[in-house]
Amino acid sequence: MQMQAISKPIIIITAPSGSGKTSITRYLLAKYPQLAFSISATTRSPRGLEQDGIDYYFLSADAFREKIQQDAFVEWEMVYEGKYYGTLKEELNRIWDKEQVPVLDIDVKGAIHVQQQFPGRVLSIFIQPPSVDELRRRLESRGTETPESLATRVNKASYELSFSHHFNQVIVNDVLETACATTEQAIKNFLGW
Ligand code: 5GP
Repeated sequence: MQMQAISKPIIIITAPSGSGKTSITRYLLAKYPQLAFSISATTRSPRGLEQDGIDYYFLSADAFREKIQQDAFVEWEMVYEGKYYGTLKEELNRIWDKEQVPVLDIDVKGAIHVQQQFPGRVLSIFIQPPSVDELRRRLESRGTETPESLATRVNKASYELSFSHHFNQVIVNDVLETACATTEQAIKNFLGW
């Protein structure tokens, strides 16, 4: 039976920080040109080689708040202390206009909001670390955290793990290649590829 294609679908990859969701998202985007990364707006500063309009739309807090006033966001959150992140409506339209499927790499609360707004059009995948201890080890080995920011991220992650049942599919990222393959298959099933 031919499946009816979903009009303007959305794929969300969400997870506690350090679960490997960015690696999985990069793998998918490199393999499937029909998918497009949904570039979020944020008020945090660029890190390393990050570029405006590629990794994020880097906005001042004033510019971000103005967009909130204009109702320009599908969802927005203060993900970390004083830093806003949000998905712009015009970003999703930009991608759909090119006949591509947006892939959102967003936090758990943002993911729940997007799902509520687009019933029947979202595939939400929750990438779960094998354990909180393993997550702590991964964050430590990344070497980008201070003891305080590590504790903040681990606490946030433990809390976010309790939301996994809100999502269409939970994929445990024990072995990255396996998690990538399982995610890929879930997307193919959803889009009828
Ligand atoms: P980072 O600062 O490490 O790039 O991102 C921090 C967290 O913010 C990650 O969990 C990332 O998925 C999340 N994030 C990125 N963009 C958005 C967004 O548009 N909305 C929400 N709610 N979270 C986002």
